[in-house]
Amino acid sequence: AKRSGRGRSVVYASSLGAASRRMHTVEQALREGLGQGQFELHFQPKVDSHSLRALGVEALMRWEHPVLGSVSPGEFIPAAERCGLIHELGALALQQACLAARDLPGLSVAVNVSPLQLMEPGFVDSVERVLVRAGLGPSLLHLEVTESLMLEDAQAALRRLHALRDLGVQVALDDFGTGFSSLAYLRAFPFHTLKIDRSFVRSLSEHNDARAIVSTIVQMAGVLGMRTVAEGVETERELAIVREICCDEVQGYLVARPMPLPKLKDWLAGRPV
Ligand code: C2E
Ligand code: CA
Ligand code: CA
Ligand code: CA
Repeated sequence: AKRSGRGRSVVYASSLGAASRRMHTVEQALREGLGQGQFELHFQPKVDSHSLRALGVEALMRWEHPVLGSVSPGEFIPAAERCGLIHELGALALQQACLAARDLPGLSVAVNVSPLQLMEPGFVDSVERVLVRAGLGPSLLHLEVTESLMLEDAQAALRRLHALRDLGVQVALDDFGTGFSSLAYLRAFPFHTLKIDRSFVRSLSEHNDARAIVSTIVQMAGVLGMRTVAEGVETERELAIVREICCDEVQGYLVARPMPLPKLKDWLAGRPV
């Protein structure tokens, strides 16, 4: 790279400049946006893989900025984590999700929780307060965490997960298959649910070995008493394979996209119960 000449390094430096300007813009806008109610949850159904009956929803944060337009969570969640606003944004998601759950009788509501937020002192108490205020049974709240949580301070993370379990909320391991999670982790951590990442699901219809691997994961999760969810199911063929390997639940565009609460209620009303 040192030998790449002046021209290339200049291009590199200026595009780096643009990226860091964008980062700065987004972080500034986050601060304002939180104060101005620009954030709203959308909800994506999770269904039983055989009956296709709705079992719950995952809450996904959406941000519509008056100038920047819609900014994806893939961009603003990491930005919020960098500038410390993830706690406020996370609390907002938790509140909105628990309030929405009152409108969705019998369905669980899953909220994504950043490791920074989960490890903050007082997190478990704040979850309890939100549940009480919303009058929501703890077992209807599911929290989705990624394995990055376990990498930093596994003992502290374990204590936190047990405290949540004691409270009665369910915890799901998200994006399984994208990182380094091993069998040892799954045995040691008290997850209720394993969510198999969509990159794995995608490879199901393409490679036989992928099917064997995912099938083994599903069986293993069963032995450990965990439910399994296939994420990002987009085709009938993927659904058929997911059923074949006995994965419990399905989430993905084939069933429904994430949508605002009123639209979700219409969608649910048109479904067999
Ligand atoms: P995730 O938790 O893995 O959420 C699933 C993502 O996959 C969502 O993207 C969803 O819209 C998308 N998806 C669902 N079904 C399909 C499908 O069939 N095909 C494809 N291609 N995609 C599908 P989204 O909403 O853009 O969210 C991206 C990520 O941002 C989430 O990934 C999650 O990690 C994070 N995120 C979203 N909302 C929150 C939040 O409130 N708090 C935190 N901490 N993170 C959030
Ligand atoms: Ca998730
Ligand atoms: Ca996921
Ligand atoms: Ca993800």
